[in-house]
Amino acid sequence: MDATLRPASPVITVELLKRLDVPGPRYTSYPTADRFVDAFGVDQYEQALRQRAQGAGVVGSGSPLSLYVHIPFCESVCYYCACNKVITRHHERAGEYLDALDVEISLHADLLGRGQRVSQLHFGGGSPTFLSDAELARVMASLRAAFKLVDGAELSIEVDPRTVTDARLARLRELGFNRLSFGVQDFDPAVQQAVHREQSYESVATLMAAARTLGFESTNVDLIYGLPKQTPESFARTVAQVSELRPERIALYAYAHLPARFKPQRRIDAAALPAAENKIRMLSQAIAGFGDRGYHYIGMDHFALPTDPLAVAKRQGRLHRNFQGYSTQPDCDLVALGVSAIGRVGVTYSQNAKTLPEYYDALRQGRLPVVRGLALSRDDVLRRAVIMALMCQGRLEFESIELSHLVDVKRYFEAELGQLQPLVDAGLVVLEPGAIQVTELGWYFVRAVAMVFDRHLQADRVRERFSRII
Ligand code: SF4
Repeated sequence: MDATLRPASPVITVELLKRLDVPGPRYTSYPTADRFVDAFGVDQYEQALRQRAQGAGVVGSGSPLSLYVHIPFCESVCYYCACNKVITRHHERAGEYLDALDVEISLHADLLGRGQRVSQLHFGGGSPTFLSDAELARVMASLRAAFKLVDGAELSIEVDPRTVTDARLARLRELGFNRLSFGVQDFDPAVQQAVHREQSYESVATLMAAARTLGFESTNVDLIYGLPKQTPESFARTVAQVSELRPERIALYAYAHLPARFKPQRRIDAAALPAAENKIRMLSQAIAGFGDRGYHYIGMDHFALPTDPLAVAKRQGRLHRNFQGYSTQPDCDLVALGVSAIGRVGVTYSQNAKTLPEYYDALRQGRLPVVRGLALSRDDVLRRAVIMALMCQGRLEFESIELSHLVDVKRYFEAELGQLQPLVDAGLVVLEPGAIQVTELGWYFVRAVAMVFDRHLQADRVRERFSRII
């Protein structure tokens, strides 16, 4: 690999991870979705859409849209799953869902005006590939009739390798998709059996080779560490196997065992889960393993080959962050379609009904199925800009925030700047006279830096401390 493309990586030791890898939000939005309220409903959402349509000085109103389509169905359950999904083998259930999606798409087109430009489209789930080729073609036709997908738009879809063949990938390419994300999680057969998701390395390798031949611009592989039966040795093999496949991007997530909250996780034998110490070793080995094999650490849970646009954007300070994680696309309004989907329009976030009966019911009555959300306050918008600058550029220039938000940063964030001191002492950030700079080491723990500026989280902590005191 070209040495000039490779940034000097700090050594991420097990000790560092133990001390600094705190659990916290992934900040795909700020405020985070757990802060959404029922008081924000369909009326507020429609108003945000109308304001965008009128371009009434609304953030993002002139730029192209991003679209997210949620397909909730899966044929079988993965025991680690924490997603909003519907497990069924009855493929005919998709028909009713697509009818509802059609209504939701046209209601948006009515409010926004037909032919709005779209530069990014993502199908997630559940398993979007639960849909047949004809059903996927039907959704794409509805979207193309309502919106204008611009030339060069990023069209991505999550692929469950167990549900596709080379021929299906060819069909996805014909439909215009140019990016694929494969859910792999782990290649070890014992781990796959323990989580009820069995797919061979060979089948994924064949699909990835086909994706390249078919001209998909980018492939992503999702992995999870901390699963039952995983050991540092077995996971190191998975890291090596995935690196051999050379996906352009890799996302590596930690498994959180919360069986009280997520029913499928009750089928996981807690005794087979790796100890915390081993989980941290897996993360540290994965960071080193991907780095040694030429992958760049993008931030949070993401790695990319140095030539991938995400790695280029990181080097050039042009990264962005949205509900799908890191992105090269500038912030734009996100219209989210489907059950439980979360969107962002202007200075609002909105979420659709989480169950199919509620979702269908709203659309049958000709109403958009938004049930909760948030209209951001001035403070939320300011803190979102600060958190996204730290998460994406690793640098916060006080002047740029002061000019765009008309605040005195040092005075407004006096308490937060004080709270950064332990992170300065740990070598994660440098406080300059007019900026906060996240160090190379700090990138690996950037959510700890961002959390300092999360007003809602800080308020929770004060409440917790207070309730402990009394
Ligand atoms: S992990 Fe994905 S494929 Fe597995 S059950 Fe959950 S949503 Fe479906």
